[in-house]
Amino acid sequence: MGKSDLNIIENKLLELGEISASLEPGPDDRADYMNSLKKYTEDFYLNSFDEPTYNPDFSSVAKLEEYPLQENPRPLNVLLEVVKDSVDRTGLNPASPGHLGYIPGGGLFPSALGDFMADITNRYAGVYFANPGAVKMENILIRWMAGLFGYPETSAGNLASGGSIANLTAIVTARDYHNVNSKNLTDQVIYMTDHVHHCIDKAIRIAGLAECITRFISRDDHYRMNADHLAECIIKDKEDGLQPFMVIASAGTTDTGAMDPLEEIGYITKAQGVWYHIDAAYGGFFILTEEGREILKGSSMSDSLVVDPHKGLFLPYGTGAVIIKNGRALINSHYYQANYMQDTEGSDEELSPASLSPELTKHFRGLRMWLPLQLSGLQPFRAALEEKLLLARYFFLKLKESNLFETGPYPDLSVVIYRMKSHHDQINENNLKLVKAVQSDGRVFISSTKIDGEVWLRLAVMVFRTKKDTIDILLEILLDRAMTISDQSS
Ligand SMILES: *Cc1c(COP(=O)(O)O)cnc(C)c1O
Repeated sequence: MGKSDLNIIENKLLELGEISASLEPGPDDRADYMNSLKKYTEDFYLNSFDEPTYNPDFSSVAKLEEYPLQENPRPLNVLLEVVKDSVDRTGLNPASPGHLGYIPGGGLFPSALGDFMADITNRYAGVYFANPGAVKMENILIRWMAGLFGYPETSAGNLASGGSIANLTAIVTARDYHNVNSKNLTDQVIYMTDHVHHCIDKAIRIAGLAECITRFISRDDHYRMNADHLAECIIKDKEDGLQPFMVIASAGTTDTGAMDPLEEIGYITKAQGVWYHIDAAYGGFFILTEEGREILKGSSMSDSLVVDPHKGLFLPYGTGAVIIKNGRALINSHYYQANYMQDTEGSDEELSPASLSPELTKHFRGLRMWLPLQLSGLQPFRAALEEKLLLARYFFLKLKESNLFETGPYPDLSVVIYRMKSHHDQINENNLKLVKAVQSDGRVFISSTKIDGEVWLRLAVMVFRTKKDTIDILLEILLDRAMTISDQSS
């Protein structure tokens, strides 16, 4: 390598530096971007809640094809318009107060600020050495959640991308703790109702546990797990020489919002030495309310628990949480070291997320949760959650007054199942028509489910913005459309 080679490199570096300089916008560009984004944000808040909660017209999505990645830059204002048309205005609007389908959440504004800050500073939240503050902040949040559910100091947990990954992390931990492996897999029994979220089944398969025996425990007339049946099954399986390994309870099922009898299951799993996992992705944060504390009482008896801050704390999508009572078990399943990470070893005062989850480098999720909780304090969260419980009951009682509808059981939480009455051979068809009719009205969005072969409509109140007026609109639409549908079919 001679002097002229060095010259060539230096000249090339100057040239490349100039071309790549635009990756770092200057103060004026940053100010312009922020102004554009501010306008976009305000426009969203001002207009989007008046737009349909569901837009079935997907034609504007094609616009994205008109903007292929290219060598030259495009202006932000043009791009924001594309996003508005192709993304914001198509499909579901989960931020809307009228979103009453699936399990919503809403999306808190301060979380956006937290994400923005996390992205600007790009702090490394995976290991304590890299950013002790970010790691400590996440652990403070984990310890706060652990405390809510009566878990001890020795518990550990992780902020995941959502409930699915959080459940997977818990199931992998249970698998390793109970030494379930290829040699004993087919003797192991996992117990749940058929109303567990499908991500549980997915996690079992991804965790290599598909060959375990899955026992579906019967449900009572509130769609809750029948604890007596659970105890019978475990005892019978033991007698038959099988290994009862794990019970998965739901603290709020997705179908009906049913709360399995957590305390009774707790006594059974303790007595039988079975790992007790609770999927509280939907229902967990109701523990912030007085009533919720009562019905989630047995949650402290579990070995692992999942909650979804992007549901019950109204965060934007992208945050679930898992806590494991025996923190050591979580570490044992996820801790790794590597030569190139030797500098990160030391006297860590906090457990690192990388040692507690499948992830290494990850989004600094703590800030999007910590900021809104700090900015508002806990009080408004408790109030909003209690309000969601009451709105569901209000809807339930109002619908009971109509002779056009029948309801499922009194809601345990904020999901209500109901359907319009019809002649038996038309009931499924008519109710599917009714969902479509509500969805195409557009003011509110509801979804449906199938329980034991029958179509039921669901109300799921979980957007913090949803108030009584939204529920009244739904009631009005339901009564009106049900009348039309039953006139047509009689
Ligand atoms: C939403 C939900 C899940 C899945 O969580 P994601 O955050 O969507 O991955 C699991 N279990 C229950 C009960 C849920 O409501």
